[in-house]
Amino acid sequence: MFDHILVRYGEINTKGQNRSQLERLLMNNVQQAVKEWEAVNVRRISSRILVQLNGTPAEPVLTRLSKVFGISSLSPVMAVRADVETITEAANQLFDKLPSAPRTFKVEVKRGNKRFVMDSPTLAGHVGEAVLSAHADLTVDVHHPDATIHIDVRDEGAYLYAEKIEGAAGLPVGMSGRVCALLSGGIDSPVAVWKAMKRGLQVDLVHFHSFPFTSERAQRKVEELTSTLAGWSRDLNLHLISVTETQAAIQKSCPEALRTILLRRMMFRICEALAARRGWLALVTGDSLGQVASQTLEGIYAVDSATSLSVLRPVGMEDKQDIINVARRIGTFETSIQPYDDCCSIFAPRHPKTHPTLEEVERAEEKLDVQQLVETALQSLEVKRISAADAR
Ligand code: ATP
Ligand code: MG
Repeated sequence: MFDHILVRYGEINTKGQNRSQLERLLMNNVQQAVKEWEAVNVRRISSRILVQLNGTPAEPVLTRLSKVFGISSLSPVMAVRADVETITEAANQLFDKLPSAPRTFKVEVKRGNKRFVMDSPTLAGHVGEAVLSAHADLTVDVHHPDATIHIDVRDEGAYLYAEKIEGAAGLPVGMSGRVCALLSGGIDSPVAVWKAMKRGLQVDLVHFHSFPFTSERAQRKVEELTSTLAGWSRDLNLHLISVTETQAAIQKSCPEALRTILLRRMMFRICEALAARRGWLALVTGDSLGQVASQTLEGIYAVDSATSLSVLRPVGMEDKQDIINVARRIGTFETSIQPYDDCCSIFAPRHPKTHPTLEEVERAEEKLDVQQLVETALQSLEVKRISAADAR
């Protein structure tokens, strides 16, 4: 009975001159999100997007669309011809299909089509009367109704709905440019990626492994996380890169206490070497200030000094519990807590240096052939294209 979904958008309405470009981007993202349902058709109407279901059940499409950033709210709607009789009949039908039986109601009319034969209060009164006479147990309450029937009369037709579902908010993915996110198998970096996507970033993912010391299962875990994140974006590119040689070189020649910092600097350099070709404008990590030894201000400074790219840390100032709450909500938590070793954990020093100076880090690094190690790592690069459907 709900043959359409009405999509409303929020923050891009405030974007003045770029607005039409952003609307096109959001439209494109919505089309991508529903592409698995062949019958579904998407089109723009003024300041809204209308998704025509053509027989596809509304529920799964709504669930998918509630993960598209840039959408403020969604409503399953009935789209009908804009004449009084048809609208009245549709309002009655809509009432019969509401999930919980309301005892009070009101009708709210918005009339974009000013040539329509009735003004808004008259149409609301007319439809209200008809609903009352068809439903003996209902009364009107204009202040605190159990249900509100919205009627939106436009040039091309009328839309009726009673339900408004909250959207994912944020900005359309792609509007803020492309970045590279360093994805471990942990709890924090998937949340950082999600937050980056929510602010409109198109994210490519890089995961470093040290196969055969890290397992294939650990890699599948990262693919699963990527797939869950793709459910909030479009298909994602996962770059898999081996740092086995890098780790061996650091282990052999450098002080144990600085290992994590040195490895992280190498990770940033490897990403930077790919950045120009891939169009990455910044790096994203899941660091959170003070969470572990390498995430002190001194540690962050020493790591960031290895790259000229901006480093974004979306969860940098957040408490662990808040990060966990988001991870649960976005669906990554259960995967993140699977116990498979990451390249960093198998290599972690017993007593990491919490307040390293850049000078001592650079001195320790003199023992490494940095350029050679970056090149070796890049030779192992493998890129996988991962979609949301891969998780199912
Ligand atoms: P996470 O939960 O994201 O693993 P963490 O608190 O365990 O974070 P670290 O292991 O110190 O912290 O990693 C800090 C950040 O470095 C990660 O959030 C991630 O962005 C990056 N990182 C760590 N290990 C890897 C890896 N194997 N591949 C890619 N990025 C990594
Ligand atoms: Mg980690």
